[in-house]
Amino acid sequence: MSAYAEFYRRSIEDRDAFWAEQARLIDWQQAPQTICDDSRAPFTRWFAGGTTNLCHNAVDRHLATRAEQAALIHVSTETGVEKTYSFAELHAEVQRMAATLRALGVGQGDRVQIYMPMVPEAVFAMLACARIGAIHSVVFGGFASGSLASRIEDAEPKLIVSADAGSRGGKVIPYKPLLDEAIRLSRHKPPAVLLVDRGLAPMERTAGRDHDYATLRAQHLHTVVPCTWVDATHTSYTLYTSGTTGKPKGVQRDTGGYAVALAASLPHIFMGKPGETFFCTSDIGWVVGHSYIVYGPLIGGMATILYEGLPTRGLDGGNDPGIWWSLVEKYKATVMFSAPTAVRVLKKQDPAYLKKYDVSSLKALFLAGEPLDEPTGRWIADALGVPIIDNYWQTETGWPLMTIANGVESRPSKFGSPGVPMYGFDVRLLDEATGDELTGPDQKGVVVVQGPTPPGFMQTVWRDDARFVKTYWDSIPGKRVYSTFDWGVRDADGYYYILGRTDDVINVAGHRLGTREIEESISGHPNVAEVAVVGVADALKGQVAMAFVVARDASGLVDDAARLKLEGEIMKVVDAQLGALARPARVQFVGVLPKTRSGKLLRRAIQAVCEGRDTGDLTTMEDPGALQQIRDLVVR
Ligand code: ATP
Ligand code: MG
Repeated sequence: MSAYAEFYRRSIEDRDAFWAEQARLIDWQQAPQTICDDSRAPFTRWFAGGTTNLCHNAVDRHLATRAEQAALIHVSTETGVEKTYSFAELHAEVQRMAATLRALGVGQGDRVQIYMPMVPEAVFAMLACARIGAIHSVVFGGFASGSLASRIEDAEPKLIVSADAGSRGGKVIPYKPLLDEAIRLSRHKPPAVLLVDRGLAPMERTAGRDHDYATLRAQHLHTVVPCTWVDATHTSYTLYTSGTTGKPKGVQRDTGGYAVALAASLPHIFMGKPGETFFCTSDIGWVVGHSYIVYGPLIGGMATILYEGLPTRGLDGGNDPGIWWSLVEKYKATVMFSAPTAVRVLKKQDPAYLKKYDVSSLKALFLAGEPLDEPTGRWIADALGVPIIDNYWQTETGWPLMTIANGVESRPSKFGSPGVPMYGFDVRLLDEATGDELTGPDQKGVVVVQGPTPPGFMQTVWRDDARFVKTYWDSIPGKRVYSTFDWGVRDADGYYYILGRTDDVINVAGHRLGTREIEESISGHPNVAEVAVVGVADALKGQVAMAFVVARDASGLVDDAARLKLEGEIMKVVDAQLGALARPARVQFVGVLPKTRSGKLLRRAIQAVCEGRDTGDLTTMEDPGALQQIRDLVVR
């Protein structure tokens, strides 16, 4: 048996011993009494009886050995700021923030909403909440008032931490008016608002409610705020899913299990070591940002880069598609984490920028968030010359459900596959209709996890246990399993391929096809930069596939004849790879595809437009104009 297979086997068959060992990677005030308590399945409780603190594990425990080492490296190509905080400095700043939160009435179990751009104070606020046992709920800074208001109502925060403004591509985006409007819209009125003034935009203040962080911080420069030891099962935060398939779900996470899961993932999956630098380009508003900008690297004693800005802008504000690699070189980052959508942005730039810097410090570039198509994966692998490691997970799982655990045993990646189930996740493939397990290779089914779920996994849906059970655990007839709502296939080597959301599976004349399979084949055409495939109701075939393509070079697409020619070429690619059945009924060309703010394709919205239906909740959409382009084409 291979080293990883044995590691995995122990995590499932010898669960308690395995996780008791991993639990030693963090500090406990009181050791756990029970490792895994599944008596109230599907609500799995990890490390019950133990007490710990996330902030202690991320900050305080490193002071003895690495107080002067870099902990938080803030780089903003929006404001030209570049500043490093050592663990000692981070410790001081977090206490100032924690003292401020306390002064504003925040106590253990209270919610604090964080609506912030990528500035250090956002990280201080998260860690400060953890320090005093408050529950944070970060709302992505790109959301407008409506999305924020519904989250305020759900979380009922005692305090909202925010800032005057964010900035994107040099354009200042005032946050305060959006926040004021959100509070006006919300039935819950937070008693206090704490504002970080970056000097980017003027702010109106509501007397008695709004407080200035600089003033309060100055009053607490030396206030000592010890860590509050909380139960392992104490809720550390809530966070919404990206809303790709509908109304976002409020994911609730514990403390002890999460800390252990992240601490274990660093050596086993990310190959990160204390004293090294982790560079994750996500946003603190997403789960990847929670786990691998803030908590994971710091728990592991690594420095973390907090990057505000586009991947194509330099510190001087000029165009610089090499900025990320210059930071890798400068800070000798050993682990990098980004998303396929960001790589596709870079792919449109001159590859010479990639060769300008020495990125040899990198052990790997991890990519997650959506399927990594093979051409994009190959392009970045060739351009960078470091291993590209796909990893598949969800807000719900907290850390990768599938990837390659090269820290346990070096294994090859396969392009198009995020890899194999990670230790702790008892992953199965089920036939959606019958609930039967699919054990053979190359059978397509829904990806599920058999409980008990591992540490770090969501506790429940915030304040809605019934929704947690009903949504996630009761979707497959006769089976009590957690559904990912992703559709996948496993090859003979045990590698999985994610073929799309279960909602996105197309049924053409009785044959089930994942939209992802068709997209993957279309993206093999050299002039395809991005593609979305959706199933559209068809009187004859039940459903047909429709493809929307962003051409890499659209300059030749001047008239219908040119478009038809490329459409025909693309159809031939699909015919050759998947067969005529999978061939889209039409291939249409657009300038941009509708995506969530986290960079995921909004196929359900495209499909609704194609079928002339209401598009539903679009609050998480990045660019409303993208959907209009599709509407124009389809109506025509
Ligand atoms: P919602 O659940 O609200 O519809 P969402 O599922 O997009 O939103 P996230 O939790 O941010 O919210 O995203 C998880 C999903 O992203 C996965 O279920 C999967 O569909 C997709 N995904 C993430 N990483 C990968 C990957 N490496 N390969 C394929 N798909 C991925
Ligand atoms: Mg989801």
